[in-house]
Amino acid sequence: MIASFYRKLKIKIALLFNPKNIKIAGSCKFCGYCCQNLYLCIHNRTVMTESEFEELSARFTYLSIFRIKESTPDGLVFTCTKLKDNKCTIYSERPFICRSYPTVRMFSMNSKLHENCGFYLTAKIPFKEILDTLKK
Ligand code: SF4
Ligand code: SF4
Repeated sequence: MIASFYRKLKIKIALLFNPKNIKIAGSCKFCGYCCQNLYLCIHNRTVMTESEFEELSARFTYLSIFRIKESTPDGLVFTCTKLKDNKCTIYSERPFICRSYPTVRMFSMNSKLHENCGFYLTAKIPFKEILDTLKK
């Protein structure tokens, strides 16, 4: 009985922390913060140095809209030249990285959302539902 309970608990906790059980909820408040403070992740690697950025910009022309803001141990932080009055001036043609922001995968790469961002992470299966399953 106890062994069965712990087996179920292990499975449910694994499920809870499985990235596939995580989804993005909420909505954009159009504060513009993410466009002014972004890390670039190209081919699963965060851009770390200026020379790396120059090399990538030569290959991927859309990167020319970004300017280096600062260098941090986690990578270069960029700002976008297309943000005016907190609005994207190329909204209908914005790059894919902007269209897909934020993604669940970025959290597995230690990225964080701005504390006032309107998006947040949540579990697809609510914790209460998992507890109710365990009680059965
Ligand atoms: S930080 Fe969040 S709320 Fe603000 S513009 Fe970016 S996605 Fe929208
Ligand atoms: S292209 Fe538009 S959405 Fe993308 S970072 Fe620049 S201002 Fe933001």
